[in-house]
Parts: sequence; structure tokens; C-alpha cells
Amino acid sequence: MFEKILIANRGEIALRIHRACREMGIKTVAVHSSADADAMHVRLADESVCIGPPSSTDSYLNIPSIIAAAEITNADAIHPGYGFLSENAKFVDIVTAHGIKFIGPSADHIRLMGDKITAKETMRKLGVPCVPGSAGEVMTLAEAAQSAAEIGYPVIIKASAGGGGRGMKVAATADDLSEAFSSARSESKLAVGNDAVYMEEYLSTPRHIEIQILADGQGNVVHLGERDCSLQRRHQKVLEESPSPAMTDQLRTRIGKTVADAIRDMNYDGVGTIEFLFENDEFYFIEMNTRLQVEHPVTEMVTGIDLVQAQINVAAGYPLTLRQEDIKFSGHAIECRVTAEDAVTFAASPGPVTEFHVPGGLGVRVDSALYTGYNIPPYYDSLIAKLIVHSNSREECLLRLNRALEEFVVSGIKTTLPLHQEIVHNAEFRAGSYNIHWLEKYLAER
Ligand code: ADP
Repeated sequence: MFEKILIANRGEIALRIHRACREMGIKTVAVHSSADADAMHVRLADESVCIGPPSSTDSYLNIPSIIAAAEITNADAIHPGYGFLSENAKFVDIVTAHGIKFIGPSADHIRLMGDKITAKETMRKLGVPCVPGSAGEVMTLAEAAQSAAEIGYPVIIKASAGGGGRGMKVAATADDLSEAFSSARSESKLAVGNDAVYMEEYLSTPRHIEIQILADGQGNVVHLGERDCSLQRRHQKVLEESPSPAMTDQLRTRIGKTVADAIRDMNYDGVGTIEFLFENDEFYFIEMNTRLQVEHPVTEMVTGIDLVQAQINVAAGYPLTLRQEDIKFSGHAIECRVTAEDAVTFAASPGPVTEFHVPGGLGVRVDSALYTGYNIPPYYDSLIAKLIVHSNSREECLLRLNRALEEFVVSGIKTTLPLHQEIVHNAEFRAGSYNIHWLEKYLAER
């Protein structure tokens, strides 16, 4: 087992990883920007190294600084968390070349899935159902028009190297195609330096349902059920739950087996998430994330499995001892992403936190690196806390969530807690009848 892990991240996920390491008797190294010197993950880690100025490009994305920090502290592995360098194949190559273990899949698997065109093609060949769409990259407007005519409008044009909802444009009719095609390409070029795009049928009322897998690269793969992440704003997840209100045991078993078989065939190792759109009881693959996800706690709550510890064990070369029949799904879990934003305008609201009081009690978990007196720097992602609630049934989970939201106090800054309170009281949400467009529509009409 590793003796010391460097955590190449910040905020709640750095703390989450530190906690897993601590329970496993592994020492931790925190790296931080000069703006994060008083962050909770830095305070709790065994050692810490400042890796640069506030800007992420110069700190959390600064590969030479991170490698130097690992070498100075003698860390034998690096956990990337999510975001930042977690899906950067070049980083994995460099880490590996320095004799340090990257906690995650191989650089080849990251490359394969990081290019959404090759990811889709790979999954299709492995028998995973995909959204109908273009055969690979669409290079010219003429090709786009031909492809769209074959798929049928509306269509969505997506960046092959995209992420976080960038480089994605919908063309409702042929009249919109030219504009959607060129803006998807230019947005993609700007965001990721690559303008390769592809096209898919734009599904009108799907849910976003993703399957969590855990694999050891030694032939053992289990799936840990689904998360419903349909509540989105600007293609970004706001609230997630497991099980999905739309799922049946039969559907879960079917898609879980399809996914686990594909992952085994790929010889993938580590944790991963296979994302689908789900409409009329059919699954359509959209992308695979080759890392831990923000919403992983809902799966941990319903399965009782610590995904970060499992990830570390697999990276250290231990075979998975869990078998699919050992995975038992218990009760219901919901996660609210709380951000430092105005709940109505979504304007960013960094600054000093004058009071921070988290809810507690049975079945309530808060993953957050905040504390009273902490000053939220303006340079990073606005996520400040994840409230995760677990109970025996969805009904009980909603009652518990409502209670936990009432107890949660964050003063000094604006947060999206009031939005979550609105959602939990909404009749349609309570009935579980929502799709990926529901939240945007609700926000536009409220
Ligand atoms: P990103 O990597 O940028 O997050 P994804 O491919 O995961 O992009 O898609 C993000 C979200 O965009 C999905 O959860 C869904 O809401 C929407 N979306 C993507 N593809 C389609 C599609 N073919 N039809 C309808 N909505 C889509």
C-alpha cells in the first residue's frame, strides 16, 4: 500500500480524499496556491506545499510544480480528484515517468474516453447503445447538413474534446444549422484549443442517468447502480439522486451488465462513470468520465462502499474482492450542490464566511471545506458544500432533506441553499417527474 499520497486538488474533494487516506493509515500531502494557504485541506494534511500564485493555470494546473512537490515530499502516489488534471493524459504520462503512481486509469484510457468521438465509437463496438448521430467528426457545413438530414432535426452539435457543457449547440431546424455549427466550433476552439465537432439527435425529454463502475484491470468489474443527474442548469448538474425515480431493478440490471461487460473488455481500471441519456426506457451513451465525480457520495450512501478507498486499493494493485452479487442497494440518497452564488441571479458571491453551521443527525452528510471565518477566494469553482441525505425511501429522504436544509446556515455570502429549498418543495420534483429541461424551465418561470 502507498505510504504517502499527494492530493492534487483543493476544496471539498481534497478534504474527501484526505479523509479516505487517513482512515487507511496513509499520510497526505496537500498542495495549494498562495490564495489557499489557510484552506481546510492544507490545515489537515500531514504536509503541504505551495505550488504557485492564485490562478489555477499557475498552481493546480502547474504540472512541474506538482511533480516537484511530490518529489520533495517523497509521495508515492498522486490523487487528482475531479476537474483540474484528473483527465489530463499528458499529466499521467509525466507522473508515471517520475515513478509516481497516478490514482486513476491509464493515460491510454483517458485519451480514448477524452475524445468523445472515439469514446462513442469504442462503446458502440462494445455493444453499448449510443445516441444516433454522425459517423465521427463533422468537418464542413455541407457534411453537417447531410448528417442532420439523415439524423432528423432537432440536432445537437458537440465538441469532441468538450466538457462542462462547452461547445454544445442545438439546431432546431435547417435554418439554425450554420450558426450552431460555427458557434460550436469556435466555442470549442476557444475552450479546449480543438474545433473537432460531431452531431447527435437532440432528444427532447430525456433524463441524465449515469452508471458508476469500479474495476481493477484484472478482470474484475462491478457496477454500483445509477445516479439521476437530470436537474441541470446550463448542462451543469445541480442535484443528484440514487436510485433514479425512473429506474426499475430490471432496467438497472440490464444496463449495469452491459456497462460492466464493456469496461471488462476495455481492461479499464479504477472508478469510472458511463453517462447516458434515458428516454422511453432506452439508454443512449453520451460520454464516459474516467475519474471520481462530484456526485459520487450518493452512490456511497446507497451501497455503503467508500469509492475513494476502493480507488486507492485498486491503484495499489489489490484485486477487487467485491462481486456483483455482493452489491446491495439500500434506501435512497439525494445530493444538493451548494454554490457561492445568488440563488436567483446566479451571480458569484465569494468573500468572508461569517457563520457556517452544518446540519447533522441520522443520514445527513456534508462534504465541505468551509469553516466560520474562511474567506472564499474568487479564483475557483463556486461549489462550497455538498449536502447528502440518505433514508429508507425517497419520501423519507425528501422529508430529511427539507429538515437538513432548514438547519444549514451559511452567512456572509450568498448561496444556492434557497434554490434547493424551493426544489424540495416543488410538486413535480417531489413526484420524480422531471427531465434534463425541467430546472431551466422552472427557473425561467419562477
Ligand atoms: P459535457 O461533457 O460538456 O458535460 P455531455 O455530453 O456530458 O457534455 O452532455 C451534458 C448534458 O447536455 C447532458 O446531461 C444533457 O443534458 C445535454 N445533452 C447532451 N447530449 C444531448 C442530446 N443528444 N440530446 C439532448 N441533450 C443532450
